[in-house]
Amino acid sequence: MKNDQIYDLIIIGGGPAGITAGIYAGRQHLKTLLICKEFGGQVGKKAIDIENYPGFEKISGIELIQKFKNHLQKFNIEVQQDEVTRIQKEEGIFSVCTKTGKIFNSLTVIIASGADPRPLEVEGEKEFLGKGVSYCAICDGNFFKDKVVAIIGGGNAGFETAIFLSKIAKKIYILEYGETVKADPTNQEIVKKSGKTEIITNAQVKKIAGDKFVKSIIYLDRETQEEKELEVDGVFVQIGNQPATSFAKDLVEFNERDEIIVEFETCQTKTDGLFAAGDCNTGPFKQIITACGEGAKSALAAFQYVQKLKSSQSSENSSR
Ligand SMILES: Cc1cc2nc3c(=O)[nH]c(=O)nc-3n(C[C@H](O)[C@H](O)[C@H](O)COP(=O)(O)OP(=O)(O)OC[C@H]3O[C@@H](n4cnc5c(N)ncnc54)[C@H](O)[C@@H]3O)c2cc1C
Repeated sequence: MKNDQIYDLIIIGGGPAGITAGIYAGRQHLKTLLICKEFGGQVGKKAIDIENYPGFEKISGIELIQKFKNHLQKFNIEVQQDEVTRIQKEEGIFSVCTKTGKIFNSLTVIIASGADPRPLEVEGEKEFLGKGVSYCAICDGNFFKDKVVAIIGGGNAGFETAIFLSKIAKKIYILEYGETVKADPTNQEIVKKSGKTEIITNAQVKKIAGDKFVKSIIYLDRETQEEKELEVDGVFVQIGNQPATSFAKDLVEFNERDEIIVEFETCQTKTDGLFAAGDCNTGPFKQIITACGEGAKSALAAFQYVQKLKSSQSSENSSR
């Protein structure tokens, strides 16, 4: 279904980058549509505390995103819950196509589609998804009350998952591929204090096994080359994220991690009028504050682009 109106700006994503872009676009009176699969993005699923967002010494992700949402609602921004499947540009106008079959047109687009969890890609992972395998402790943690769980990944995401699950599960294993874990010392201390978590390093996960539900995890001890099995009821995969950017492949350039290459100053991609902000671009520090900063930058750059475009169109018309 094609919508004939032309927006000044379409924002793809309702996480910190997209919401901030929306607030800035609203303040510049850009006619804006924000399309997102799930409002809140990664932060909206984070029940444990955020301690590095200025102005809030401690705030849960869910609370912070509610504040962002309230702020966005002060502006006249249209929001649609949908999934963008493709973007094209023809004769200076972007068409944004969605899963529900809608097509929206715009002079500029900001991609703020963040990232999806990176899968382990081992036997049993797909088979037991929703039957013991999960990528989100906030969403599924309560199914594991007094159970034994394994978390794959010894970075901050893995440790934060352990902190969250320590209030629910009986026993937690963290399996880390490398020789040492990579989480911040603060997260490591909290996990240690909970007394429920055993950390296994040099562990290469080979298989997730079970019958109707997960029963065990099989890993290679990379030091001894021995294959070992842990009896667990659940497996939380926390090995990082992969950018959700394939819908833009015709208009942008990617690095080797499928992150969109942008100019630092404006978050502009290789296509004029198309910007990429937050976790989906090549910025090395994937944080709420950096995503917000890029959302702001890209919305202001989109505003300048729209202004130039409209003033050149009106001077063309008046010279005819
Ligand atoms: C467990 C965990 C803990 C974290 N803790 C912290 C912390 O303490 N402090 C901190 O600063 N950062 C933290 N982060 C990182 C932070 O959450 C991210 O850097 C931030 O959310 C990135 O924001 P974003 O807007 O770029 O992307 P996201 O938050 O990923 O939002 C992306 C948005 O795009 C939407 N979307 C995706 N694809 C499409 C599509 N095709 N069509 C339409 N919409 C789409 C999604 O539904 C979502 O609304 C944490 C991350 C995780 C996973």
